[in-house]
This record gives sequence, structure tokens and C-alpha cells, in this order.
Amino acid sequence: MKNIYLLGATGSIGRQVLEIIDRNPDDFCIVTLSANSDLDGMSTLIEKYRPEYVAMGQPDAAKILSNRYPQTEIGSDTAGLVKAATFNPLDQNGLLVNALVGMCGLVPTIKAIEIGRSIALANKETLVIGGDLIMPLARKHHVTIYPIDSEHSALWQCLKGEDMNTVKRLIITASGGAFRDLSREQLTTVTAEAALKHPSWSMGAKITIDCATMMNKGFEVIEAHHLFGISGSKIQTLLHKESYVHSLVEFIDGSIIAQIAEHDMRLPISYALYYPFRKANPVPPLNLAKTGKLTFEPLDFHRYPCLAYAYEALEKGGLYPCVLNAANEMAVQLFLEHKVSFLEIETIIRGQMDQVTNIANPTVDDLLITDATVKEAILITTLK
Ligand code: NDP
Ligand code: MG
Repeated sequence: MKNIYLLGATGSIGRQVLEIIDRNPDDFCIVTLSANSDLDGMSTLIEKYRPEYVAMGQPDAAKILSNRYPQTEIGSDTAGLVKAATFNPLDQNGLLVNALVGMCGLVPTIKAIEIGRSIALANKETLVIGGDLIMPLARKHHVTIYPIDSEHSALWQCLKGEDMNTVKRLIITASGGAFRDLSREQLTTVTAEAALKHPSWSMGAKITIDCATMMNKGFEVIEAHHLFGISGSKIQTLLHKESYVHSLVEFIDGSIIAQIAEHDMRLPISYALYYPFRKANPVPPLNLAKTGKLTFEPLDFHRYPCLAYAYEALEKGGLYPCVLNAANEMAVQLFLEHKVSFLEIETIIRGQMDQVTNIANPTVDDLLITDATVKEAILITTLK
């Protein structure tokens, strides 16, 4: 029985985590849950799972829920998320499932590592910003980070039992997002509503936009670098529109091992929750006789500048990945609010990356300050 501390319970990943747990009630116990502001969603979860502690990102939402459920301890803000992540610190069977979106996942992840709690991680932004701090800290506290992101789960499965010295490169596939068949000229007029229609996956709004700009793939390159200790120059990305090959590893002898399955996040979630065991799940089996052609194409950095920015941020290191992420978070939010155009997302990010005064080995406080400064600068210049 694993005790689950679930952050981001009301989101796309959070709900699928709960679906796996619901199917296997003898294997898991929900101890804490968190959301941001979804009162109805969290009310349903409190009534169903009776968690020992609940955190809401928004203090107002926490107050309303406290009045609704006076028997349940409810906190808010970063302190609440940290408490939800580190609740029962001596629990030896605890697993933090971080399904938050954005940089709000950074501090709870670090605090959970400090109490030695294993982590199933969907929240890639946390590794993008803080991977240089998180991975050594995890090694120090003997904490394992189990990736939920489908490409990283695929790489992890392909690498099982392999000697990392025999890996030539990692190959991460990309579906291409909603606008993969449009030219750059056609991108000048696209809307947020159109960007939210992903061809293969149904996901939260932010990652769906990140797929359309290809920033998601850039983030995944950085995420893979941290998880598997491989330099960016050995991580390749390929457009694979069919979304069945979730990633591949090429070895020095010329062998390429791929993980192939239906595009359904319940598979990598289940793999992370049950590792090192495999467990049957509700994902429909893939019928290779019916998939048709599987195609692979190079990704053009001119067509997808955000992918190039991510490689650049990884290479420059220090504060660059934090600036990349902060600028992207704010630009995507403004795009979803119809305040900037689709192509302005990349202009805003480039503008912030061109202004970085870099430092080596930033601390958590450096990252938090940089994140806030970048976001505020974008708001001031964009909305004036
Ligand atoms: P969603 O937007 O669907 O869900 C995000 C969750 O985080 C919600 O529970 C939301 O609460 C909560 N949340 C958002 N902001 C805050 C905040 N400031 N403080 C506290 N809680 C907050 O995102 P996804 O589930 O799509 O994505 C989660 C993570 O997983 C992302 O990092 C994404 O990149 C990654 N990922 C997602 C995949 C997918 O298929 N969705 C695939 C691979 C990776 P509320 O509901 O109240 O707003
Ligand atoms: Mg992914």
C-alpha cells in the first residue's frame, strides 16, 4: 500500500492519477490533495477521499472550503502546498505525485526531497527551472524521481538495465501540436481557441499551448538532460505525427530501442505509480496492424524558435532556464487571455532571454526572485 500525497489533483494529470488509484483501491491510500481554485472539483474529492490535509493555491478558495468542510484541515499558498507534499514526514510508504502546472511545483518538490519522499513527477517546469538543484539533492537524500511525462517514461523504459555509457543519444518525439501543418505566415492570425485543439492528446491549457509553440519539446529536452544525466547535444527531437512512438534510445552499437503504445497518459502514470512493476491498466492495446505508417521528420528550429531557445537555455545554464520558463508562463497566460498574439509568445521569451545577467549555481531564492522579476517585467511592458 502506497500513501499518496497528490498535488494538482483537479487537473488533467491529477484526475488520471486518481482514476488509476480508484481502479486499485487496495494499492493506494490518498493522504493529501491540492488544487488552485477549483472549489467544486476539490469538494467532490474531499467527500470521496476524506484526505487528512488539503491545500488550495488561492487563499480565498481555501477559506470557502474550510467553511464547507470544518473537519478537514485546509491550507493555502506555497506553505499549504509544501505541507501537502511533506505531510507525515516520517511516512516510509509515501509517494508525492506532483501534477501541478508551472513553477509553483518547485518549492514543494524540494521540500519533499528534503524529507526523503519519493516523487512521481509530471510537473516538468520544476525540473526545467531547478534541475541543477533538484537532482543532486535527490541523490543526497536517496530520493527517486519517477517521470510521468510520456517521453521520459518511454526513455526510462528503454534504458532499463542498460549501461548509460553505451547510450549514444536520446530521441524525443513530438506530435507537433495544433499548428504543425501551418506555415509561419499562417501563424500570425491563429487564436487561443485553435491552439487548444491538440491533434493527439487532451491536456491542460498551458501544456497544450506549449505543444503548439514546441516549447513543450524544448522543456522535455531539459527535463531529459536532468533525469538521465545526458548533455543537450546528445538529445535529439523528431516530429512524429502519429504519436505512437513515445521516445527512443540509440546505443553505441547502432541499436535503437523505442517504446510504442497508444497515446494515453494513464500508461506512464501507472508505470510511475507501480515502478518497478508493470500493472494492467485501462489503456486500450495498440493494434500495430491498424496504425498505418509511422513517420519521423526533423524539427526545424526556424519554424519552431522556442525549441532553439530551450537548447540555448540548457547550454547557457544558470538563470537561463528559469528565465525561459518564467517568460513562457507569462506569455502563454497572456495569449490565453487574448492579450498577445501567438507569435508574440516567442518574441516575449526572446526579449527576456536577451536581457539575462547570468549567474552560476543559482539558489532557490535566486530562482524565485528571477521568476517574479521576469513575469513582472513582461506584464509592465506588454500591458502598458
Ligand atoms: P492542468 O492545468 O490540467 O492542472 C494543473 C493542476 O495544478 C490543477 O489541479 C490546478 O488547480 C493546479 N494548479 C495550477 N496552478 C496552481 C497554483 N498556482 N497553485 C496551486 N495549484 C495550482 O495541467 P496538466 O494536468 O495538463 O499538467 C500538469 C503538469 O503535467 C504540467 O507540468 C504539464 O506540463 C505536465 N504534463 C501534462 C500532460 C497531460 O497530458 N496533461 C502530459 C505530460 C506532462 P485548479 O484545477 O484549481 O486550477
Ligand atoms: Mg510529454
